[in-house]
Formats: sequence, structure tokens, C-alpha cells
Amino acid sequence: MNEYDSNRIYDLLSTVGYSKTEEKKDADCFLLNTCHIREKATEKVYDEVGRIKKDFKNLNKPLVIIAGCVAQAESKEMLNREPYIDMVIGPQSYHKIVDLILISERKKIKITETEFDVIKKFDELKNISSKQNKISSYITIQEGCDKFCHFCVVPYTRGPEYSRPFDQIILEANSLIKNGAKEIILLGQNVNDYNFSNNKTKYKLSSIIKELNEIKNLKRIRFMTSHPKDMTEDLINCYKSCDKLMPFLHLPIQSGSNKILKLMNRKHDIKYYLTIIDKLKTINKNIGISSDFILGYPGETESDFNDTIDLIKKIGFINSYSFIFSPRPGTPAALKKSNKIDVSRKRLKKLQLVLENIQRENNKKYMGQTCEVLVENKLNNQEKYFGRTKYMIPVIFDADNCKPGELLNIKITSFNRNNLFGSYKFNKLKVA
Ligand code: SF4
Repeated sequence: MNEYDSNRIYDLLSTVGYSKTEEKKDADCFLLNTCHIREKATEKVYDEVGRIKKDFKNLNKPLVIIAGCVAQAESKEMLNREPYIDMVIGPQSYHKIVDLILISERKKIKITETEFDVIKKFDELKNISSKQNKISSYITIQEGCDKFCHFCVVPYTRGPEYSRPFDQIILEANSLIKNGAKEIILLGQNVNDYNFSNNKTKYKLSSIIKELNEIKNLKRIRFMTSHPKDMTEDLINCYKSCDKLMPFLHLPIQSGSNKILKLMNRKHDIKYYLTIIDKLKTINKNIGISSDFILGYPGETESDFNDTIDLIKKIGFINSYSFIFSPRPGTPAALKKSNKIDVSRKRLKKLQLVLENIQRENNKKYMGQTCEVLVENKLNNQEKYFGRTKYMIPVIFDADNCKPGELLNIKITSFNRNNLFGSYKFNKLKVA
């Protein structure tokens, strides 16, 4: 979501003449769009500001803006701790950025803006055309969270759940497709809890997917991140009725132990999660599932950990993320006694090995096969291209002549844990 936000911030700033530069010392303004999910996020921001300060020691001071969830969480404190920072803007206030810069420059003042003004934000953004022209483009359709998992800071930094108006989303999708997008990834902290009603109609995530599925020039649809509790029948059925919806779902479970899920306040148990997977596999037995895992959550025993390993093997998760629990200030889990770090580290290592083996075996299956790849870009200075399979697996391949945005059948000739490698020369067949 930060990538989407950064693009939109750039869209706003470009209306008043800012443009991107690769040369650090050319910059008049540094904007750090921050994430607060991982440990030490705040310290990393101060370190980066320190580097900017050093680089500009004998030059004119640039404008330094901290945006995103660290800005929201730390607010005014950032201006007190590091006077080199000029402005602190939360994730629901960045639509005001142009005015805030003008005020700050005119009045020579520092500014903190961390209101939860999400409706206003999207209302204003709809008038600013997107410059995003990537083959695979993001659209935020929902923000915030009301679920309050005990480890998570999102409800405090992104605020309560808000779903954007349906028409606004479809307009933005059409504009991105006009810019060249062939894949749309719908984003939300609880994307599958999308819920918007006008006077006549109630829209859900499935309504957006169905509408996008009808757009001729769009080839692929994805959405993330979903909560298991909100995997409703209408959404599950989209995997049957919408051919452009990719057969790959990121559905975080976090732990394979019911006890830990309860301590995390996840609002679902293993049995329920497995029911969802069964329903999806009944529609398409090849659907791929990925998850996030938190290791060493307060109270996690060896037996809870083994339950997680068993679940991973049972479901065969691909492309998953795993982390050691890190207490986020202000969350209920931060008040609990932490597990021993060396035990958590060992568990993480073991779990990652299991995930890696599954992923490697999964990639091995493609050897000698052709698979459908959406070409995203040509690699710098090489006759090689980059694309992704339906399952999001990165593919690097040789081709004499192909264009970003094409769907090609690529013959896979080698693999490693993360990537597939292949060639288009062996198979000139384009996917219809
Ligand atoms: S549902 Fe997701 S975003 Fe919401 S609190 Fe839980 S982990 Fe955080």
C-alpha cells in the first residue's frame, strides 16, 4: 500500500512542478514514506534523515518530509527529536501535501498533520490523474482495520475501516488500463471486507472483481491482503466465474495453533481456515495459497510451533512471509512477556526451511513445462525479460522480441527457490 501511496503523493507533487530525481544531491525535497509494521522502523527513519543531513552539510537544506505510518505513530515527537525534519504527514492526510508545503515555505514553520481524514483524501485524489504506468498496477480500495489483532499496529496508524466508492475505483482502474496496466492488484488492509453502499446498491469485493473481469484490455486481477473471516461465498465463487482472477490467494493465518490464534485475537480458528481452503480447492484444485507467519508470539510453546509446521505441510503454502514477533508499542501483545529470542530464532529458521523446501519443490514442477507469463519489463542492458506466472512466481526469460504487457507461454528450463528461468524462443505461441 505504501507503493500506491507513494505514487499518489508523486501525482500530487507533480502538479506543482516536482519531478523525481535519481541524483540524491539534486533533490530539493526528500519524502520518506514509512512503514511501522516491522521493528526498528522509527530508528531507520532517523538514520536515513541523518544520512541526508550529512550529504547536505555544505549545500542548501532540502525540505524533509516524513509520511506514512511511522509519521502517524510518532507525530510531533519527530520534529522535537530531529529538527532537520520539516514536516510529518500521516497516511490519511497526504492529500493535503501541496498546501502543507506552500504553508510551510511561506510561513517558515514546521508542520504535523496526522488527522484521519480518509474520505476527504480519496475525494481529492479522484481529481488527480494517476501517472502510474506499470503493467501491474495497484489500486487501494479499502483502508484501515477494525479487527485489532493483538500484535498489529495498523488499526492505530491507518485508522478505522473505510471502503472507497465503487464508481471511483472503476474509474481509477480504467485510467490505469489506459496508461497501459494489464494487471490490477486491489489493495486493502482488509481488502475482502470491502463494503460500499449507495442509495441503490451494496457493493462488495466480488462486485469489483466481476466489473473488472469485463474490461477487455485487462488481463489479470489480484487482491490483497485478505482476512480468513471475510472469505465470503460470493468472493470464493469469483474463482469460478471470473477467468481473469488469478488462482493465487494470500490468506494470512499467522499460526497453526488455535491457542495462539486466540491469544492473537485473530477471530478464526484452524478448522474454519481449512474449510475455506477446501472450498477454494473444490473450485480449483490448483489454487495456490500463501500466508504470513509470526514466530515466538508470547505464549507460543514447542507444541504450538509444531502445529504451525504441520499446517504448513498440510496446506503446502507457497511464497509466504515469516517473522519473529516484534512488540509494537501501544498494542496489547507488547504488554505480554516475550519468548526467549534464541528459541524464536531457531523456530524461524526451521519454519523457513520447511517453506523453502515446499517452494523449491513447487518451482521444480515447472521444469520442461510451458507456463503463462505476463511480461512486465525488459531487464537493464540484457536481452532478458521479467514477468510473473499466474501464481506470482517471477520468471526471467530470453526472448528475441516481446513487449511488456504481452501474455506469453514461456518454456521453463531451470529454477531456483524464488525464480523460474526460461525462454520464449522455443515456443512462439502467444496466449490469446
Ligand atoms: S486484520 Fe490485519 S490489519 Fe487488521 S489488525 Fe489484524 S493483522 Fe492488523
